[in-house]
Amino acid sequence: MQWMQAQYSQKKGLGSKLIDEDGNQYIDYVCSWGGPLILGHGSDVALDGVMEVMKDGSTFGMPTEIEVVLAKKIVEAVPAIEMVRMVSSGTEATMSALRLARAYTNKNKIIKFEGCYHGHSDCLLIKSGSGTLTNNVPTSDGVPENVIKDTLVATFNDIESVKTLVNQNKDQVAAIIIEPIPGNMGLVEAKEGFLKELRAYTKEKGILLIFDEVISGFRIGYGGAGERYNIEPDIVCLGKIIGGGMPVGAYGGRKEIMSLIAPLGGVYQAGTLSGNPVAMKMGLNVLEHLNNNPDIYHYLESLAKKA
Ligand SMILES: *Cc1c(COP(=O)(O)O)cnc(C)c1O
Repeated sequence: MQWMQAQYSQKKGLGSKLIDEDGNQYIDYVCSWGGPLILGHGSDVALDGVMEVMKDGSTFGMPTEIEVVLAKKIVEAVPAIEMVRMVSSGTEATMSALRLARAYTNKNKIIKFEGCYHGHSDCLLIKSGSGTLTNNVPTSDGVPENVIKDTLVATFNDIESVKTLVNQNKDQVAAIIIEPIPGNMGLVEAKEGFLKELRAYTKEKGILLIFDEVISGFRIGYGGAGERYNIEPDIVCLGKIIGGGMPVGAYGGRKEIMSLIAPLGGVYQAGTLSGNPVAMKMGLNVLEHLNNNPDIYHYLESLAKKA
């Protein structure tokens, strides 16, 4: 009888609720993994004008005005971003940010933190072999060891673990990537001063600091974790919320760094559907709404406390 149930299924999302294939209703605590649905399923605000944009052409493979408008919104909101490049997922954002950091510094190694998730590109899929700093083990089958040999893993909230790695790999570390508010190992808060120390130390060593704000961006507050903690990383990665439920990611930073990306510079990065007007429209709708209604963040926090 399964096919009959399927016939009558009404699988859908509605605001904060989910209705499954069998018609059961749930509160949706997943929210498409932490952000894209900040306004809930089927939000009129998010969908406003999207059909019209789609009818005029869903993708051109070239920039349209609405991409520029969304880019400007992001630049205005995130203190560390002067220039931004749209991609189609958080994975692409972090992957491209690392390529950029390696080109800018002309160094190869990167440091990530145990427990932080940065999407599924090969060189970021790594777990720490606790203490075995040179003997990294991939977290996923299919990731060759030589691909992750330049990925070093430090301990979150432990600045000494970072310094040890940097000292063991003198003048070889291009970037440190971190979720300033890790949401992928349970919710772990950075210890007082940890992020500030990391910022000061990376500056001193000429290492780029990358904030992966794919979840925290526009979620912890309109300006993300950088704004909340008053820290300016060199590159910020965004995703989830900025697409309003469509596949979008972005990475941005100082002009001097971002200008290395093609066509201005020699760091290749492209995406057939990246910056398409439909995704840009939904993202823009959501960001405009958040910007105009800052109370949303207080409301969200009160809901989280209740839960
Ligand atoms: C979700 C997430 C990513 C990956 O984004 P995708 O759009 O799933 O590729 C990267 N970093 C963080 C912190 C995330 O939460």
